[in-house]
Amino acid sequence: MSHVTLPLIDHVWGCTKCARITRTCCQRCEVLVSAGDRERIAEYTGRTDFWSDRVPEDPAYADPGGDPNWRAWGFHADGSRPTLNRRQDGDCTFLTATGCSLPMHVRPLVCRLYPYTYTEHGVNGVSDECPREVVPPGDNILNVLDVRRADADRWHQMLYAELRTGKRSDEHRPYLRSA
Ligand code: SF4
Ligand code: SF4
Repeated sequence: MSHVTLPLIDHVWGCTKCARITRTCCQRCEVLVSAGDRERIAEYTGRTDFWSDRVPEDPAYADPGGDPNWRAWGFHADGSRPTLNRRQDGDCTFLTATGCSLPMHVRPLVCRLYPYTYTEHGVNGVSDECPREVVPPGDNILNVLDVRRADADRWHQMLYAELRTGKRSDEHRPYLRSA
C-alpha cells in the first residue's frame, strides 16, 4: 500500500487566521468608546467597569492627521479619553476564544468601522494594518471581513455625532440598532 502525502491546504482567512499568526487588533488597540458605546455596552452586559479615562499609551491616537475634531471632541483637557479596559496581557476584556463577545450593534463604533479609515468628513480609505496573509489571493480585506461601505458610512455618522454631542445618537432611532 502506498502513502501519498497531500499538501496541507489552509482555508482559514480573515480574523481567524490573523489570531493564528499575530496579535490581533483586539489584542493591541486602545479603543475609544463614545457616550453611545458606553450606554449600549452597559445595557447589554449590565456592567460599567469596562472602560476608563486614560491617556493613550500610543501617542499616535492623539494626533490623527487632518482630523482636528477627533482630538477636540474625543479627548479631555488632560489628554485622557474614554477607553476600553484591557487585561494585563493587552487583550480587550470582551475578547474570547471565538472572537468578540459583543454583537455588532453593541460593539464600539470604532471597532465596527475597522479597518476603514476616516476623518470627521467621512470614510476615506482602508487601514493597511490587517496582515496581508489573511486575505486569499485575488480578494481584498473588506470582502473577507464583510464590512460593507453603507454600514461604515452609517456608523461613521453615529460616531462623530456622539463625539460631538457627548450623547447617544441612536436612542430615538431604533432602526439604527439592528445593524
Ligand atoms: S480586523 Fe484585521 S487586524 Fe483585526 S483581527 Fe481581523 S484581520 Fe486581524
Ligand atoms: S470590543 Fe470586541 S471588537 Fe472591539 S476590541 Fe474588544 S473584542 Fe475587539
